Amino acid sequence: MGREALVRSEEREDREEEHLLRTLRPRRLAEFIGQEKIKARLSLYLKAAAERGDVLDHILLHGPPGLGKTTLAMIVAAEMGVRIRVSSGPVIERPGDLAAILTGLSDGDVLFIDEIHRLRRNVEELLYPALEEFKLDIIIGEGPNARSIRIDLPRFTLIGATTRTGLLTSPLRDRFEVVFHFDFYSPEELKEVVLRAGRILGVKLTEEGAEEIARRARGTPRVANRLLKRVRDFVQVRGAAVLDGPIAREALEMLEIDREGLDELDRQILRTIIEKFAGGPVGLETLAAALSEERDTLSEVYEPYLLKEGFLQRTPQGRVATERAYRHLGYKVPRRLLEAQAESARLI
Ligand code: ADP
Repeated sequence: MGREALVRSEEREDREEEHLLRTLRPRRLAEFIGQEKIKARLSLYLKAAAERGDVLDHILLHGPPGLGKTTLAMIVAAEMGVRIRVSSGPVIERPGDLAAILTGLSDGDVLFIDEIHRLRRNVEELLYPALEEFKLDIIIGEGPNARSIRIDLPRFTLIGATTRTGLLTSPLRDRFEVVFHFDFYSPEELKEVVLRAGRILGVKLTEEGAEEIARRARGTPRVANRLLKRVRDFVQVRGAAVLDGPIAREALEMLEIDREGLDELDRQILRTIIEKFAGGPVGLETLAAALSEERDTLSEVYEPYLLKEGFLQRTPQGRVATERAYRHLGYKVPRRLLEAQAESARLI
């Protein structure tokens, strides 16, 4: 296949995935699976705001990609019965772009800014008075004749999403009254996600088939939906009648997703730390360079799940492969790791 054809087929994949995500996105809070604490708090705030006849406080959503931040922002707008305007940090290049978005809002609207930690500083500063007082400061004219005027904005709710709260400036973080942290989903919750997606897409699947996909979906609904689609294609090509446990296992093995849900890049990350850096510690930059990967992709997309599942540890000196990583990939566990563990067990 020529390079151009490759690019085109990747684009098609992206478009298909976009379409799939839109179809599968829950529309109301009652359809949103899991994240019970967030849902309970949110319904309270929604009720209170509705009773007051006021907009909802500004909300910051924080957590790894694919856990439902965009979906929840859309649900908030639907539950409030208002419009949502969707943008993202890197897309809003100049203060003028943000001013155009803000002045285009109607009373009560939700403004969703994804990757809000990537807003430029001069854009971000314009946001402060907008969030606090629903005012916009505009500079008119240039040089010595420049003056600033203040205009009123409609009352709106900002929902910001970020994979890294640590990168948010404190003046911005302080302007969010509500912060929701998204956790990875449990296998039971993901099973519900898969069964729901199966119903919408008209896929016949057994409980065991759904469990198999859920278990390997890295705690992430987006991954669960994507795997379901891949396995469905496999079932279709095989001419099988239902997506059951054995066929799900076979398909997932073919996709090189192992029983812990790790894919090829996950394993490569761990193997690189073990083989090239003697198990670590190795700095993120060095690791990214060794893998020819973007540093942010590693730390935001791959690491959170590896850390949560205990394959990887973050230390002040860098990333370290754990005993679990050695065992999972079939390496002999180095004596120093076993000794360190015995030592910490003694201390406890
Ligand atoms: P994020 O904004 O955190 O990257 P999205 O909101 O885009 O994640 O979610 C990705 C996809 O995962 C959505 O299209 C939706 O189909 C699915 N999804 C996310 N959260 C849930 C949930 N709680 N219940 C059911 N499906 C979900």
